[in-house]
This record gives sequence, structure tokens and C-alpha cells, in this order.
Amino acid sequence: MTVLIAGGGIAGLTMALTCHQIGVPAVVLESVRSLAPLGVGINLQPNAVRELYDLGFEGDLDGIGIEAREWALVGRSGNDVWAEPRGRDAGYRWPQYSVHRGELQMLLYRAVLERMGADAVKTAHRVIGYRQFEDRIVATVDTRDGGTVEIDGDLLIAADGLHSAVRQQMHPDQPPPHWGGQVLWRGATPGPAIRTGASFTLVGSLEQRFVHYPISAVDAATGLQLQNWIAELTFDTSQGTPSSDWNTEVDVDKFLAEFADWNFDWLDIPALVQGAPAVWEFPMVDRDPADRWVDGRACLIGDAAHVMYPVGSNGASQAIVDARVMGAKLLDFGVEPAALEAFEADLIEDLSALVLRNRGHGPVGILGLVDERCGGVFDDIDDVIPRAEVEAYMANYKAAAGFAIEALNAAPPTITILAP
Ligand SMILES: Cc1cc2nc3c(=O)[nH]c(=O)nc-3n(C[C@H](O)[C@H](O)[C@H](O)COP(=O)(O)OP(=O)(O)OC[C@H]3O[C@@H](n4cnc5c(N)ncnc54)[C@H](O)[C@@H]3O)c2cc1C
Repeated sequence: MTVLIAGGGIAGLTMALTCHQIGVPAVVLESVRSLAPLGVGINLQPNAVRELYDLGFEGDLDGIGIEAREWALVGRSGNDVWAEPRGRDAGYRWPQYSVHRGELQMLLYRAVLERMGADAVKTAHRVIGYRQFEDRIVATVDTRDGGTVEIDGDLLIAADGLHSAVRQQMHPDQPPPHWGGQVLWRGATPGPAIRTGASFTLVGSLEQRFVHYPISAVDAATGLQLQNWIAELTFDTSQGTPSSDWNTEVDVDKFLAEFADWNFDWLDIPALVQGAPAVWEFPMVDRDPADRWVDGRACLIGDAAHVMYPVGSNGASQAIVDARVMGAKLLDFGVEPAALEAFEADLIEDLSALVLRNRGHGPVGILGLVDERCGGVFDDIDDVIPRAEVEAYMANYKAAAGFAIEALNAAPPTITILAP
């Protein structure tokens, strides 16, 4: 009885650790030759942090990130439009963390090797397809040395990300990734603490914005912390979608001029951008929701199932939650296709709606209103938009996005492990 997991990213490694926790043998088939800490910052919402704690990582997240405490929208002139607490300060029982994506992946990877053994992750194993039989599934794997092998399992859980090969076989007619015109440039720069030292800030307008949040504590020796940032511009989509490869490194000259005068007394954006050792470009893409994630003994999770715009900072969090919900279904239904069906039935409708909703502006819509009314430049936000209007907008967004503090705080664990 083995679960084959395609992809050793956040979803795949969490899935492996969850299988181990519930006593189900699993093996991860990962395409790259060796895992490295790639990417920059991501946010782990309290629901995902809870799951990582249940997997034994309480105490480890401070080593790869920082507890997030504030979320703020800022106008083009550098003045606050809205600020609110996050994580435990907002009333959650579990914190929100801003972490380095690659360091999180390596934390999970080390745990898989320690808990499950060195053979639990097979690198240089790119899954290219699968074949179904009545009582098993066979993954076809390109071993990157020109060879192809077939690996047998009971189930195939596909966590192979945005360009999932398993999804492509399940949905051969799916359109290419959908692009709304935004391009993101991402980097991380050591710098002094900004605002609370644990604040997420989103500055600008719908068409041009800059996101910033720290992903490390202040280093006692240097007084600096790692500042994750994302610069974003909007383009005409008629020229076709740029390549959606997470590892495209570019020069800052591609976009820096557009932010040249974005220098406020509390945040010097050009200096932050220029101080980054490397900058990566990525078009903001998602995929149209699929009507099925399950095909017999194969099932999609994480980005392979529901890659979405990072409007609510919940792509990685949902990848973790998916793996845990799948674990609960394996406990309830056994290592059988019924577990996959139950997983899909629980999640597909809500997450497909979330993918489509994230194509809208989400909370950034407020910055659009401010931009319309005053070009984003103001001294007192109350002169531009009444506080009650912002509060109503944010309340609507949160209700639709399922921010449910009380519901999470009261919910039982996704997986309850009984003492042996
Ligand atoms: C290199 C990289 C850098 C990233 N950087 C950022 C970032 O800076 N900010 C951000 O918000 N998000 C980033 N992401 C995306 C983010 O990790 C995901 O949106 C989110 O964590 C959901 O995780 P996932 O496990 O579903 O997908 P991913 O994290 O994308 O993991 C997918 C994994 O599957 C592997 N894989 C792909 N195809 C195959 C195949 N055919 N067979 C076997 N394995 C395969 C990939 O190598 C990868 O390890 C990055 C992803 C990658 C792969």
C-alpha cells in the first residue's frame, strides 16, 4: 500500500509528512535533481500554521520567518488608507507567519528525510503521466538521464504545481495559464525594520503597486531584517502571456524607473529594490477552475488543483490545508479512490469560487477607489473616503473570502492522532 506523491513542493512534502503521521506509506517523486531553497516570501495564514504545528513544527517557524502582526493599505503618497492587526493580534489562536518559501520547503524536506528515510523523496523523477488499473495506479516517470521508469502505487496524489503534468493528462484540452496583465518582480533585501517590524504593506493603485513584508527577525548583529518585496505593473495582454517560470531572473532596470519617485520618509522603495542580490520576474497567472480533480486513483492538490492569484496570500496556506484534509480522508475512507472523491467533494466548489474571486481586486479595490477620487495623493484619508465606507468594504471582502476567526478557533483538529 503506497501513496505516490508527484512533486516535492509545499503541498507534496506536507502530504508526505501527513501520510507518515497517519501510518500510510508514501513516496515523493520530484522533478528537480536536487531541492534548493528557491523563491522569496510567502504568507502562512493561521489555519495553515495550525496544521504545521499539528505536524510537529511549533517552534521551527521562527527560524524561517517572522510572526506577522499588521496588514496595511497605503496610498500613492505614502499615507495610510487602512491598517489592521493580523494573526494572534487579530484574535486567532494561531499566528500568521511570513516566511521564506524555499526555507519552508527545506524545513519540510529535512523532516521528511528524518522521519521517513532517505528513499522517501526520489529527486530527478519527473512524472509525465499515469496508467490506471483496477487495484493500482502506475506513474510514468522520466528519470532525467534519458530513462523512463514506471512506479506502482495505490493512489497518485499530484502536487506538481502550476504546470502539473497529471492535470494535463486529466484535462488534455485545458487552456494555457490565464494572465490578467500583471507582472510581478520579486526580491528580498536586508534592511532596517519598517513600521511594526512585522507589517505587510501594499502601496499604490490597481495598476501599479508595491508589496512589502519582512521574512526574518531583526538580526542582533546588523540591526537588519530580510525585507521581502514585490513590485507590480499592469500590461496589455494582447501580446501574449510571458513565460510563467518561477526561476526567471531579471535586471531591475526592467521596472525600476516606474518606481523611481516612490520614496517616502518611512519606506525607500528604489533603495529596497536596488539592494536585492537577485530579482525574479513572474506573470500573475492562474488557471480556469477544473470541473474534476479526481480521475480514478489520481487526484490533484495544491497549485496543481487550484492555482490562484495571490490576492489573499493563501496559495501556500491552501496547499498545506489540502494535504491535511486529504490525510483526514485517507483515515476515514482508507487508501482508496473513495478518499480522493471525498476530498474533492469537500473542497472543489469553494476553491473554484475563490480562484475566480481572486481575479477581482479583493481588498486592493479600496486603493482603486482612492486612486479614482484623488490620484492616491492625500493628507487625510477621511477627506477622500469615509472610514465607514472602508470598513464596510473590508467586512464584505472578509465575509466572501471566508476569513472566519471564530470558526477556525472553534474547529477541531483536521487530523486527531490518538496516543498509541
Ligand atoms: C521554484 C519555485 C519558486 C517559487 N517561488 C515563489 C515565491 O517566491 N512566491 C510565491 O508566492 N510563490 C512561489 N512559488 C509558488 C508557491 O510555492 C506555490 O504557489 C504554493 O506554495 C503551492 O505549492 P505547491 O506545492 O502546490 O506547488 P509548488 O510549490 O510550485 O511545488 C510544485 C513542486 O512540484 C515539482 N514538479 C513540477 N512538475 C513536476 C513533475 N511533472 N513531476 C514531479 N515533480 C514536479 C516542482 O519542482 C515543485 O517542487 C514558487 C514555486 C516554485 C516551484
